[in-house]
Amino acid sequence: MHCKSQWLVFIISYLAYGNAQKNIGAICDDGGFVLEAAFTVAIESVSSEDDPYEAKVVRTTPGDVLEAHNAMCSVLEGNVFGVFAPTNEKALKHVQSISDFLEVPQILVDQSVAHNRNWSAINLYPNHVAYSQAFAEIIDNKGWEEFTIIYEGAELLPFFDAIFALQDLEAGNEVLMTVVQLPDGDDFRSHLQTIKKSGSLNYLVNCRRETIETFLLQAQQVGIMSDEHSYVIMNPDFQTIDLDPFKYGGSNITGVRFFDPSVEAIQNYVKSINAKVAELSEDQIPEAVTENGLTLSLALMYDAVMLYVAAVKAMALEDGSSVTCESGRGWAFGSTLLNNLKTVATWNIEEGYKETRVIIPAAEVEGSESMKGKHFIVLTALSAPYGMLKESPKKLEGNDRYEGFGIELIEELAKMNEFNYTFDIQADGVYGSLDKKTGKWNGMMEKVMDGRADFAITDLTITAARQKAVDFTSPFMNLGITILYKKPTKQPPDLFSFISPFSLEVWGWLAGAYVGVSLLLFLLGRIAPEEWQNPYPCIEEPETLDNQFTMANSFWFTLGSVLTQGSEIAPIAVSTRMAGSMWWFFTLIMVSSYTANLAAFLTVESKFYAIKSVQDLANNPYDITYGAKKGGATLGFFKESDNLLYQKMYQYMDEHPEYQTSTNDEGLARAKSTEENYAFLMESTSIEYMVERNCDVAQVGGLLDSKGYGIAMKKNSPFRQPMSESILQLQEEGKLTRMKDKWWKEKRGGGACADDDAGSAEAQPLVLANVGGVFIVLAAGSGLAVICAIFEMLVDLWVISHRENVSFIEELKAEIKFIISGSSDTKPVRHREPTGSGSGGSKKSKIEDEESHKEVENNLNAPTPSERSMSHHSRHTLHSRRQSNAVQMARMRKFSKATY
Ligand code: GLU
Repeated sequence: MHCKSQWLVFIISYLAYGNAQKNIGAICDDGGFVLEAAFTVAIESVSSEDDPYEAKVVRTTPGDVLEAHNAMCSVLEGNVFGVFAPTNEKALKHVQSISDFLEVPQILVDQSVAHNRNWSAINLYPNHVAYSQAFAEIIDNKGWEEFTIIYEGAELLPFFDAIFALQDLEAGNEVLMTVVQLPDGDDFRSHLQTIKKSGSLNYLVNCRRETIETFLLQAQQVGIMSDEHSYVIMNPDFQTIDLDPFKYGGSNITGVRFFDPSVEAIQNYVKSINAKVAELSEDQIPEAVTENGLTLSLALMYDAVMLYVAAVKAMALEDGSSVTCESGRGWAFGSTLLNNLKTVATWNIEEGYKETRVIIPAAEVEGSESMKGKHFIVLTALSAPYGMLKESPKKLEGNDRYEGFGIELIEELAKMNEFNYTFDIQADGVYGSLDKKTGKWNGMMEKVMDGRADFAITDLTITAARQKAVDFTSPFMNLGITILYKKPTKQPPDLFSFISPFSLEVWGWLAGAYVGVSLLLFLLGRIAPEEWQNPYPCIEEPETLDNQFTMANSFWFTLGSVLTQGSEIAPIAVSTRMAGSMWWFFTLIMVSSYTANLAAFLTVESKFYAIKSVQDLANNPYDITYGAKKGGATLGFFKESDNLLYQKMYQYMDEHPEYQTSTNDEGLARAKSTEENYAFLMESTSIEYMVERNCDVAQVGGLLDSKGYGIAMKKNSPFRQPMSESILQLQEEGKLTRMKDKWWKEKRGGGACADDDAGSAEAQPLVLANVGGVFIVLAAGSGLAVICAIFEMLVDLWVISHRENVSFIEELKAEIKFIISGSSDTKPVRHREPTGSGSGGSKKSKIEDEESHKEVENNLNAPTPSERSMSHHSRHTLHSRRQSNAVQMARMRKFSKATY
């Protein structure tokens, strides 16, 4: 039953107030309609269709405490967000005690309680300390050495504090002050006469607005309004007095005003009040505010409504106090709202009360002390994982509703600097960009700049343009722009995958080395004398010699070894053997490397990358559409860049606004979607967060730039220094890293793709850097072989020229001519070795005697040991054949008598 009735109350109150309309109460006891009209006009001007406000006004008889009590209770029934208090002091005190108990803020715009501020009350009337200082300065300026203070009620005495302090005997300031209190009633003449008799010529007057005119009139009557008398009137409504009757007395009358009544906005306000008064008073004769008749209280009423509603909006309060005189419990947000109001308002003469921060110069208050006890509005956006809505079965309220990296960072900073805060959410998720045409910022930046928020924290990038408009703390995270795209797909098996182990460059070098070494062998064969052999060993003195390294054989020899098959050819000279063995070494390394890498290619799954870098994206071979967050720093980077590639990309994105997204989440969804072939340009930290949870997307390519996220605040804010210091401290303590790990890798499904990439290392083709060394060894070996061959040739020619007694140069010329001609693999023998004479090289041995000749001949006809072994084992391996060939050649050499 109890439960049901609660539901009923809830439904009724929802129907009554739940249409997002917010009520603000007022108890008007001015005995007329002017205050109510001013209040209603102000409420109407802050109300909008999206965010409607309504005035809940109860009119009471001035000074009737019971009526005030009932009025307060009935205003509270309206689920109000705050109450504008009555002006009568007794009624006010009573209403305030209810307010204090129920924690519903009271807003005052009157001086009567300047010395009696309750905690639930906030008074916009100028503070007496500042007020008295202003007048002390006026008096000081006038150089008054004597004056009479004339005041009406004891409540006005605090307004003289700074004036009494003008009498500073120690400093040698002797000012003669006389204090006179005006009597009750409206006849002050006897007091004025006493003042006149005292000889005082200067008067500082503080009395109610209603008294001023009577006072001045009676002063005139008493005769203290001649040109030797001066008046300073302290009442802020002095401007509403008609001074015409006193113009000609000659005395100087000075007053102050808080606004210029001729300003159009003020005149419109006066007109609206008068119109509203006429509406409210219906057929009664309406009172009207004259053109100059706007009092400070009426003006403050407007500013107070503005300020109060701004605070309610800033705290994003949706539900009113929902307390009643009987409920016996307080409103949970009352004190926060009040705190908020006390720290967010400034007042200046031109603009009246304005919702801006009280800037305490940083020099005055050291470091974090400047933030202590203050309340700040912290603007954030729902962008994972910086700010997110908490998932909870319970209905959460206030700051409890949010969690995330940014939220936790603010919590830490608040603990370190001892400040309070309320989170406000940037509902549209716009961080802020400058409209160059209007020169205006939007989004979070705008709110920070115009003071609707003290701090903005999210993945808000520090950019040069933004830095000009607001202040940023030291960055709490570093990042760069990169690409979010679908993970590479599996590559279909490639028919020509056997090419993959070497890069094309290495294949090219390999082919070059093959041709080069083959040609070299051909050349060495021609140079090296030992490679020229007698083709017919039985002919003792051959006409010609043969060379096995013909062009075709040279290519065949190298190919045989690179394919690990060998050939019939075996080099004989030192130089050709050297070149041959270098080539074998080279092929050994290359073939092993190829085999090893081929194994890797066959076992590792190869992947298809549609794009690998931003260049690929810009060239767009696979029709991939791409974009970035609208108005974000990423898009800004492409816009401002002078790199031609980035300019081209910006042009594309600018021409296709449909590819720009409102949030990072939208970008992710589009990148994942199978219906779209979309790549999202995004910041690396946000990509890291997403790829931890979305295993079908990955970061593509490296970072295009390097920048950071910071907390934004108003330009020249004194809080930048302490906040930056605290961020650096958190960084040094490693807390920021721990927080990042927590929000990136652990919370909300982090680490879901951790195993996904294990073992997905790709096989890479070997590039020249991997195998370059072996090419160098080959080149060096080949060089050495060339030197060797030349040396062999020179020695041989030198021996012949001596033996035959011919010119060495002539021999050399003839030899070189033959080598260069390259025409034939057969070489005519130019000089025969004379029988029985001289010595010979290895292939120019001579036959010493007939016996030995015969023996050799027999030997030649008999099978060689290897030939025997071949016939025995019938094994015709290439190797043994090569061996037998070499042995036979050696024997033939021994037999030959001829030299060429
Ligand atoms: N961090 C960006 C900004 O501050 C939003 C995301 C983006 O542009 O990639 O505007």
